[in-house]
Amino acid sequence: MNQEQRALEPPPRNEVRVVVDSVKDYAIFQLDVDGTVLTWNAGARDIKGYSDEEVIGTSFTRFYTREDQLAGRPWQMLNEAARAGRFEDEGWRVRKDGSRFWADVVISAVRDPGGQLTGFVKITRDLTERRAAEEATRRRARLHAVAAEIGLKALESPRLQQLFVYAAEAVASVLELDVTAVFELRSDDAMVLRAGFGWPEGMIGRASMPGAPFPDHARMPVAFSELADETDPFSVSLSREAGAVSGVVVPILGSTDAAPVYGALAACSRRPRVFDDDAKHFLLEVATLLAAAISRVRVSSALREAEHETIEERVARERAEDALSARDEFISVAAHELRTPLTSLQLKLQALERSLTFAPTEPGKLLPRVNGALRQVARLGNLVERLLDVARLSSQGLEMGFAEVDVGQLVRETADDFREQARAAGSSLTVHVETKASARWDHHRMVQAIANLLSNALKYGAGHPVVVRAWDDGSSCLIEVEDQGIGIPEDAVKRIFARFERAVSSRHYGGLGLGLYVTREIIEAHGGRASLERGRSQGACFRLEVPLRPETATRPQAS
Ligand code: ADP
Repeated sequence: MNQEQRALEPPPRNEVRVVVDSVKDYAIFQLDVDGTVLTWNAGARDIKGYSDEEVIGTSFTRFYTREDQLAGRPWQMLNEAARAGRFEDEGWRVRKDGSRFWADVVISAVRDPGGQLTGFVKITRDLTERRAAEEATRRRARLHAVAAEIGLKALESPRLQQLFVYAAEAVASVLELDVTAVFELRSDDAMVLRAGFGWPEGMIGRASMPGAPFPDHARMPVAFSELADETDPFSVSLSREAGAVSGVVVPILGSTDAAPVYGALAACSRRPRVFDDDAKHFLLEVATLLAAAISRVRVSSALREAEHETIEERVARERAEDALSARDEFISVAAHELRTPLTSLQLKLQALERSLTFAPTEPGKLLPRVNGALRQVARLGNLVERLLDVARLSSQGLEMGFAEVDVGQLVRETADDFREQARAAGSSLTVHVETKASARWDHHRMVQAIANLLSNALKYGAGHPVVVRAWDDGSSCLIEVEDQGIGIPEDAVKRIFARFERAVSSRHYGGLGLGLYVTREIIEAHGGRASLERGRSQGACFRLEVPLRPETATRPQAS
């Protein structure tokens, strides 16, 4: 036998024994064809816990679980190894003390040179720790996945209640719990059950537990251990109401210093149960996600409020700008209105001066010019009076002086004052007074109110007849001023009584847009009503309806 052939020879039997015996992590057995243990190694002794005497010469089936034995599993494995030469399997095996361990088993058939089966070699490796580690990793991954789903839900769902319900159910399912709860801590220190799983009918949204289990509302998350050991009122009440014996309660932190704790997440079991670190960390993670969602919802509602305020501020600013531009427009219109009679007055005074300087004539010839100048002065005075009225109306309302007046006389005299103007405008002015009533009015103001209507009628209805009517129904007097002028466009009807509102362009007709406003204020100060009766086209007819005996205290609001 040469050197090479020698190396291929199997080592002598006793050398194999030494090697086999020194292997500690594997249980190595030699079995005969019936599965009787012929030899085993030190590793087998350590793993299985039997002594040599107890095992050698007995059947290898004792290492299998009762169920496997009844199912004939050990024999199936030997048969399979005999058939295929080798058989590998993972499963539970039993130690001498009855404890189970997870094993990887390889059984190899041993044959003599003639191919005859002489027995088996069985190698068993204890995988319990590896299996436990794998299981723990799988569970941790599952917990992370559930936490991630809750986080996603927190981002998606704008409503906290929905999120609480989802989280309570997801936690219960992944940790296989009987009861879960999301509590909100109220300002009176009661913990209100907002959402949960496994609670008796009708408790969610209603039940509350006294006090919080967090010492001094600790800001640091604290996981509480077994419920049964807790003596604080919250845990006692929680274990009673939920029928729980074990549990973990984790604070859900608040986002402000004023409210450092929002509430709590509780995970409970009705059987004694130890919550390992993975479970506690998972619950802390979920509580953190809920806290983040709560703070997000609060921030976005604060943002919405701020946005709302900004809109209100913008509306207020726009209103102020509108008021400013209305005022600017008014000032320019007023300036124009004042300039017209002023220019005319100036011209008349200059002509007068010339006459006096160059051709001193009899005073009679100067009279028309003086009269013309006086008219312009009156017009100016009238305008200034109106402006003052509006200023007064804005600040303090109208000063009223009520006294007995003869209604018919008042209407007639007011109209008579416009005869001259009507002639100049080419309009006839007809007055129908069908009342003998006397009223308690502010004479001067009422004249002003009617005059404003007459002045408009002659301005917008120049060249057409104007009619004034007055009658009473016993308690109120009705006065109408009707013209057949340009009328009032439909879209302007609503606003012409407002301050500075005009329905015509200032290029065609002068005016401050104040006459109707002042008229309405005066009539309302008498407890009456000013309205446009007819007049969308083909002229306008304004009506004043004024109580004969207004309540004297009635005054318009300063606007
Ligand atoms: P104004 O000084 O501009 O006439 P008012 O307040 O008296 O101001 O009237 C407001 C607007 O109502 C006028 O600019 C005009 O467009 C319209 N209006 C008033 N009276 C008449 C009328 N009799 N016929 C047609 N339009 C009128």
